Amino acid sequence: MSDLANYDPDIYNLIEKERLRQVNGLELIASENVVSKSVLEAVGSILTNKYAEGYPGKRYYGGCEFHDQIEDLARNRLCELFGAEHANVQAVSGSQANQAVYFAFMQNGDKMMSQDLAQGGHLSHGSPVNITGKWYSVSHYGVDKETETLDYAQIAEQARKEKPKMIVCGASAYPRTIDFKAFKEIADEVGAYCMADVAHIAGLIAGGQHPTSVGVTDITTTTTHKTLRGPRGGAIMCGSENAVAIDKSVFPGMQGGPLMHVIAGKAVCFREALTPDFKEYAKQIVKNSQAMAEVLISEGLDLVSGGTDNHLILLDLTNLATNGSHLTGLEAENFLGEAGITVNKNTIPREKLSPFVTSGLRIGTPAVTSRGMKEEEMKQIGHWIAAVLKDVCKDKGSKKAITEVRAEVEALASGFTLYPEVR
Ligand SMILES: *Cc1c(COP(=O)(O)O)cnc(C)c1O
Repeated sequence: MSDLANYDPDIYNLIEKERLRQVNGLELIASENVVSKSVLEAVGSILTNKYAEGYPGKRYYGGCEFHDQIEDLARNRLCELFGAEHANVQAVSGSQANQAVYFAFMQNGDKMMSQDLAQGGHLSHGSPVNITGKWYSVSHYGVDKETETLDYAQIAEQARKEKPKMIVCGASAYPRTIDFKAFKEIADEVGAYCMADVAHIAGLIAGGQHPTSVGVTDITTTTTHKTLRGPRGGAIMCGSENAVAIDKSVFPGMQGGPLMHVIAGKAVCFREALTPDFKEYAKQIVKNSQAMAEVLISEGLDLVSGGTDNHLILLDLTNLATNGSHLTGLEAENFLGEAGITVNKNTIPREKLSPFVTSGLRIGTPAVTSRGMKEEEMKQIGHWIAAVLKDVCKDKGSKKAITEVRAEVEALASGFTLYPEVR
């Protein structure tokens, strides 16, 4: 019996239940992934015992000689992966990475421009309910009403009028390619810093499936746990001219001791992402989401912007009628969840419902691609999603499609183990 099972069966059993949930279901949350056993091992290691405030060679604690080497490996590998001049791997999450960048270059009350949360942006991009929206003055841009894609001419016009100190690009729910060069040109024209937040697409960039922001915008922030397939965490990349400001802002500006076990996990993740296998993985993520998008369209469902260039699909549910109203994102998330398909409700452009209800659904392929699934499986899943949504539209009490799909999902999942050695 494991130590944990023996000492704390409550927690042990809940971890085991969650493991089975992950094994038996299909994780289609666009921001989630499945890390390797090597990453798990690093994150679960004794490195968690140590304080290492500061940076390699300049710590505020003794005994950091191995932590220095670990952090240097993580920083160097991240620089190599993206061709960056400088990397900071201490940000504990994507939100903290973003806050550190704002804190480095903006004063309280300065203006930033960023994509509206309701139209694909992120809370940490100045949402009114987030600390970033309270500390900075924010002007949001959205997507074009017709194309539901970014209109760079419109954004440039807004930037000229608003004269922000910083322009933030990057999104959480945007299925199309982002033109970082266009954003940098707009920022240069109005004398603003340009920050790209590639949290969602970092793995696609690393794998050559999306144009990079590194070396284009002034700063790039990311998470390490989405398409990059590493442990939960954040990272920042920039040119050497901004290195000191960024490092100071993360520590001592925002954080205390770094999570060295997680930094070790990040180093492992970056090593994995440098391999040819990872390039194939990134390519397959996009092929998979496009294969699923095609099926959903053929089933008569509406996709925001009409399709996808990346790892995610945004379903617009407003034409899925259920006596007088339409199926909400919240309902769709729950019905698909009962069928073993985990997705999340999401606002869509021109959203009329609250962020807790929404009219959309975000579907992503990174995690199922990590399990080895390819286009054939994606088409199957696309048909299952359509079957469940259509059946519950006819009758919200119906369990017919849900029950059928649940069985098929479990059969499919059993052929694609999460960790082959853990059954
Ligand atoms: C996920 C995400 C983040 C934040 O990540 P956390 O690690 O959850 O703080 C920041 N920006 C974007 C665009 C994201 O999608």
